Amino acid sequence: MKLQNQIAIITGASSGIGKAVAKSMASEGATVVINYPFENSKADAQAVLDEVLQAGGKGIIFQCDVSAEADVQNMFASVIQQFGTVDILVNNAGIQSDSPFEEMTLNKWNAVIGVNLTGQFLCAREAIKEFLRRGVDESKSLSAGKIICMSSVHQIIPWAGHANYASSKGGINMLMQTLAQEFSPKKIRVNSICPGAIQTPINKSAWSTPKALNSLLELIPYKRIGQPEDIGKAAVWLASDNSDYVCGTSLFVDGGMTLYPGFTENG
Ligand code: NAD
Repeated sequence: MKLQNQIAIITGASSGIGKAVAKSMASEGATVVINYPFENSKADAQAVLDEVLQAGGKGIIFQCDVSAEADVQNMFASVIQQFGTVDILVNNAGIQSDSPFEEMTLNKWNAVIGVNLTGQFLCAREAIKEFLRRGVDESKSLSAGKIICMSSVHQIIPWAGHANYASSKGGINMLMQTLAQEFSPKKIRVNSICPGAIQTPINKSAWSTPKALNSLLELIPYKRIGQPEDIGKAAVWLASDNSDYVCGTSLFVDGGMTLYPGFTENG
């Protein structure tokens, strides 16, 4: 029970990676706040909570659009009022809205930056205020709080046709490192997970046919697509005291995707 008595907010937790992180953290004793953005994802969030409760865990669901400042402030205030504090933030919510660059509308640009980058800024700011207020409580953790930013291999791999998404992930890297530099002296640990290709709804077109999957596997030296649970396990480690000396790091969980597999027989 590595996260016993800790309160964890996981954004975008009604599906995919966020869902797996919520289940993994709950199984380690955390009380999980399963965030979802809109009414149409409420039933999925409730289903995740049901799984958590059935497995003996604790949690609630909470609606909040992470790109809306008032929503985010309300979520943190409500959670702190109900549970007394927040110990862990997993900044996971993210969207893709792809387009050839010359046709990319400002709406598409703003939508992706708004959720993926501004959403992480808004949630991190509220979390850090609470971590600073509470300070270290050694009965729970050696640090005053942990933030895990869900980035991507695309914080370093350029991605044609996805300028908004790749830019948001590059921005997350610098946001994460800056926060880690600013708040490590306050015992707040900020790190990123950079998933490679994980089998979730966001990238269904890349794995839903054998042809697509085979072409995807060419990019993955470890020759399997990642599962949300691969990220859940990494997130538990980064949130636990087992990683107490890890500050400002990007943990790539990508089956080797960032090893430039195209160079195996070339170059
Ligand atoms: P997903 O589509 O299943 O999950 C994204 C979640 O974000 C959804 O639950 C969605 O409801 C939520 N969300 C969207 N807009 C929101 C908003 N405004 N406020 C709150 N929540 C919102 O896809 P996923 O693969 O689980 O993605 C999770 C994160 O992992 C994203 O940040 C994504 O960029 C990142 N990621 C995924 C992969 C992959 O291969 N699946 C790879 C690298 C990074």
